[in-house]
Amino acid sequence: MKNKIAIYPGSFDPFTLGHKDIVERTLQFVDHIIIGIGVNSSKSSLFSTEDKILMIQEVFKGNNNVTILSYEGLTVDFVKQQKGNIIIRGIRNVSDFEYERNIADMNWALEKIETVILLANPKYSSLSSSIVRELIKHKKDISQFLPIELNNNILIKQCNQ
Ligand code: ADP
Repeated sequence: MKNKIAIYPGSFDPFTLGHKDIVERTLQFVDHIIIGIGVNSSKSSLFSTEDKILMIQEVFKGNNNVTILSYEGLTVDFVKQQKGNIIIRGIRNVSDFEYERNIADMNWALEKIETVILLANPKYSSLSSSIVRELIKHKKDISQFLPIELNNNILIKQCNQ
């Protein structure tokens, strides 16, 4: 699947080790990955879109094969606009599978865009952004769940204060 651009859409609120693992594995079979932060005005987010972009940029600093963008609207429209070839998603369990299958079916029906689904690395199959947000709410140290590049990130440090 070389010379391909993959789009990895998501909320990334925040970007975890599970997300990073999916990006790194995708880069083994595509040339470029665009991480697309979906902006949904009706869904509240702990981190702002700008902060999410800054954090993910820090994780992939110096890696020219990864681009971080945000988008509003339908993912298929974003994929077309970016000339993406495939959508990447990750699944941790059966409920993720059911959810992802519905979206993938819809994206195929709308624009014939293929979705490649990677199984979560077993190390991270219980890790979700929502659990991390819950830990932040209760002032717990979340560093073991986030990419090492974010250990000294000011936004993350603020969460622990
Ligand atoms: P969304 O709100 O679109 O589900 P997320 O940021 O929660 O966005 O997740 C983006 C994608 O990454 C989804 O396909 C999700 O299943 C996947 N994902 C989330 N956490 C993990 C993990 N720990 N391991 C593998 N994939 C994951």
